Parts: sequence; structure tokens; C-alpha cells
Amino acid sequence: MLERIPEKYVALDLSGMRCEGVRCSALTGEVGKSTACGIYEMRPDVCRACMPGDEECLMARAAHGLAVG
Ligand code: SF4
Repeated sequence: MLERIPEKYVALDLSGMRCEGVRCSALTGEVGKSTACGIYEMRPDVCRACMPGDEECLMARAAHGLAVG
């Protein structure tokens, strides 16, 4: 799956997406205002499976200091 993603967004150990702190390197925009996936068409399966309000979504929101209730 990672082979279709530009190298600059992939972790050096090939374990997944490269992150800067809790932020995925492919995320564009300002968290809490307006964001988008910079590789939406080729995003990993785990991202495709994440749905608004599900457990992973709420974990990500909490990690970024956003409301989860
Ligand atoms: S959808 Fe996945 S690849 Fe895209 S910005 Fe979010 S975590 Fe990164």
C-alpha cells in the first residue's frame, strides 16, 4: 500500500505515514479550521476505513485537542 504514496510522506522505517508529532505529514490546512488529505486518492486503507465519529476519529480529535463529545 505504501508504494503508491510519495516517499516524502512515508515513515523512514516504512511503518506507515510519516508524522510530525501527532500530525500526518500529508495533512494540509489548519487543524480545527480547515484541513484536507494531500494524498486523498492514494491514502492508506486505514485512513479509508476511518469514519467521522468512530473510535479512531475521536482518538485523532483528542490528540489534536479538539472536542470529542
Ligand atoms: S487521511 Fe491519512 S494520509 Fe491523509 S492526511 Fe489523514 S492520516 Fe494522512
